[in-house]
Amino acid sequence: MPKRVPITVAHGDGIGPEIMAATLHILQGAGAELDIETIDIGEKVYLAGNSSGIEPSAWESLRRTKVFLKAPITTPQGGGYKSLNVTVRKTLGLYANVRPCVSYHPFVETKHPQMDVVIVRENEEDLYAGIEHRQTQQVVQCLKLISRPGSEKIVRYAFEYARRNNRQKVTCFTKDNIMKLTDGLFHKVFTEIAAEYPDLENEHWIVDIGAAKLADTPEAFDVLVMPNLYGDVLSDVAAQIAGSVGLAGSANIGEHVAMFEAIHGSAPRRAGQNLANPSGLLLGAVMMLVHIGETSVAERVHNAWLRTLEDGIHTYDVYKEGVSREKVGTKEFADAVVERVGLTPQTLKAAKYKPAESEATEKKQASPAQTRAEKDLVGVDVFLDWSAATANDLGNSLVGLNGNGLKLEMMSNRGVKVWPGGHSETFCSDHWRCRFLSELNGGTVTHRQIVSLLERVARAGFDFIKTENLYTFDGERGYSLDQGA
Ligand code: NAD
Repeated sequence: MPKRVPITVAHGDGIGPEIMAATLHILQGAGAELDIETIDIGEKVYLAGNSSGIEPSAWESLRRTKVFLKAPITTPQGGGYKSLNVTVRKTLGLYANVRPCVSYHPFVETKHPQMDVVIVRENEEDLYAGIEHRQTQQVVQCLKLISRPGSEKIVRYAFEYARRNNRQKVTCFTKDNIMKLTDGLFHKVFTEIAAEYPDLENEHWIVDIGAAKLADTPEAFDVLVMPNLYGDVLSDVAAQIAGSVGLAGSANIGEHVAMFEAIHGSAPRRAGQNLANPSGLLLGAVMMLVHIGETSVAERVHNAWLRTLEDGIHTYDVYKEGVSREKVGTKEFADAVVERVGLTPQTLKAAKYKPAESEATEKKQASPAQTRAEKDLVGVDVFLDWSAATANDLGNSLVGLNGNGLKLEMMSNRGVKVWPGGHSETFCSDHWRCRFLSELNGGTVTHRQIVSLLERVARAGFDFIKTENLYTFDGERGYSLDQGA
């Protein structure tokens, strides 16, 4: 008897319990060897006073099984409830969100009959670190963090995924023409890692035109990898243009634990009526079977499901007069898939999965350790909350604070240089960046010099709201210049 693989299952809210029952029925019918632990998450747990929607005992199960099949949940309305998905993702370090977006033409209506893309979204960094501050009356900020190890992990995952799934090309989207340091690092890491995969094509697009091309001609893409925010937006766009949000599953992969789910929510208005389409969760479960090494069961389930779609047996969300043959409920759809276990699709491409030796090899292939760059402190950006008069007035006052090895180099407002030599047309908010560099051209400065500058700034009555030290790394500038600089 093959060994049963322990997994943790949450039945969720709304349509969750129905689509989970249908999914587990199909997995069982296809011979999946699973040892299921059930946990409670979602609405009930939130309303019982747990603001994260998950009980401490549920974490123990997840740490034990390391595999989570999750139905959608309802986040109650009103403040104070934390997003369960974000909590699980961050707590368990699920760094890769993988979302295949496939069209099933001519069986499901779509404008893009040839679409077959997989979006690999970085899941932990970027603007989603949630570090936000209100700094002045007028200005708030959100910190965008991109790390080299984080970028290496996700980009390598995308290339490994492409190789394992017989894909031909990996495309990277960033906006590094504007965010030269953050998105620039992601792009640079992509170029470095792409060189290790000569068997796969690679390309980079600026995200705006890339997104336009994806929405217009998705068949031009294969596997896409991108930072968190672009991935969040574009994975929904891609799922929608493939035909239906009800048909897509997704995987959230970490180094220790992985979570599999449908991309849609708990659709409370459809709950309890045997109406919902279980396909999104089922395809999430197929990704789970591949992940735990039950690849032949994954193929059987996926192919039986494709054959069911081809046979025109559709739930209400996909059903179309003239295309579909029979409108069925959740349970009947699951039965129809089970009846077709062992069959393959006749028109659509049959699913084929490689046994996953993969995850282990991925870890072995960590990028070589970087040598530490020589880091020199060369100045400081002092941010001020100030709204008294013009940029020139402020510049002239700050020049009076020069000394002790530091001098005012320039000032910008919302990234636009306004001193020296600003333009009177530039709109200025109450948020000023004042750049002080060493008096000696290209010289280094000390923390002590910066502290004494801040004392002078405070004594002169200015409200400094934050500072950013300016460093070079092996002589390379580690900070951006200004527009107009
Ligand atoms: P939703 O995805 O639940 O529903 C959007 C629309 O799609 C609805 O018209 C619904 O009837 C339809 N739909 C969704 N899944 C379907 C399926 N399997 N079969 C047939 N039709 C389906 O999004 P929403 O209405 O914005 O959110 C409802 C609840 O779900 C909210 O509480 C939200 O917080 C939660 N949600 C949870 C998750 C998750 O757990 N991963 C994700 C998104 C939303």
